[in-house]
Amino acid sequence: MTVSWTPHRFTGGILALDTANTVVLRDDPQKTFDRFDDPVEIARFADAASGFRAAELGGRRLQALSPETIAPVVRSIRESTDRLFRGAVSKGAIATGDLAGFLRACADGLSSSRCEIGTAGRPFGDPATPIAFEAALAVSALSLLRDDTVARLRICPNCSWLFVDRSRNSSRLWCDMAVCGNRQKASRHYRRRTAAREVSDV
Ligand SMILES: [Zn+2]
Repeated sequence: MTVSWTPHRFTGGILALDTANTVVLRDDPQKTFDRFDDPVEIARFADAASGFRAAELGGRRLQALSPETIAPVVRSIRESTDRLFRGAVSKGAIATGDLAGFLRACADGLSSSRCEIGTAGRPFGDPATPIAFEAALAVSALSLLRDDTVARLRICPNCSWLFVDRSRNSSRLWCDMAVCGNRQKASRHYRRRTAAREVSDV
């Protein structure tokens, strides 16, 4: 089934986290699934992310010409990013054991890329040409290691997505208030009503 890459699917706040969140409901082995199961979705995701993440990318577009070929490295960056930073949120610290695998995966993503990145206004290189998605994914994932970013990483209590909390007082609870915040409110309301009914049934 074709995925609609809606704004909600880009609430991670950073390309590498939006990518980590393409595996849905990671904490539920019964319900979890991978939106990149069909590698074509990697190219469609890269297209959508070029727009949603234009600010992070300095306007450079992402390109995934042969999604089938890059699928293994994309998955490996994605999974090692999720493991490392999910652990960082829960433990408040980076595990060096997970860091090694993460760095290897990022190195694989960068190994066939030949461009210059990190100059002022061009964090991902010259926006005149596109950048390979797996290389950009690695650059984005590595940027998460900054300690000021690690301190702002959160896990959504409803859907367990990772996201960066950029709110002024660091109080953002949900990946997306309009989706997860409301679902949680609705289920609380449902539980209250059910409890009330049980009482009145007695
Ligand atoms: Zn959520």
